[in-house]
Amino acid sequence: MLHCPNCGLQSFEFDGNKVYRCKACHYEFFFNAATAVGALIEKDGDLLTGVRARAPGQGLLDLPGGFVDPDESLEQALKRELDEELSISPSSMRYFSSGSNRYLYNNVEYTTCDVFFMCEIDSFEGMQANDDISEYRWVPLDEITLHAFAFKSVQNVIAKLKETYKPFSGKAP
Ligand SMILES: [Zn+2]
Repeated sequence: MLHCPNCGLQSFEFDGNKVYRCKACHYEFFFNAATAVGALIEKDGDLLTGVRARAPGQGLLDLPGGFVDPDESLEQALKRELDEELSISPSSMRYFSSGSNRYLYNNVEYTTCDVFFMCEIDSFEGMQANDDISEYRWVPLDEITLHAFAFKSVQNVIAKLKETYKPFSGKAP
């Protein structure tokens, strides 16, 4: 992006962080972090993950989720993504943590703020991988390798989950 959308001159410069400024007419264009959501879904000590069908990170693991659309809440976006990617519906979702990422797509590096929710799913009947994920995998939390995941924010949230996770099972240790 070199041409200013206001005056048309080739005088547009990126500050390297979040704003393009026109040296000629001083027009500013902000390039803010995009919002994304991810779901932490656990069952019997296993975490539900998906294999990314597309770049960036094609073939690597990811959490179910995706970008928040215009006019959506975080919860609406996550419900939509869980339906699109896995055909499942959460009965509850609770904020867990958030983290930043850089996301290279079509040679443009986007910054994101990823928000993660613990989700409860009453029924996994009919679950199937669609859309951005090619297959789903249940991965035992105590066997997870962080570098199998495509994004730093996801690696960080899984590390935090592993630290804090206590199985609810009533079984004797
Ligand atoms: Zn201009």
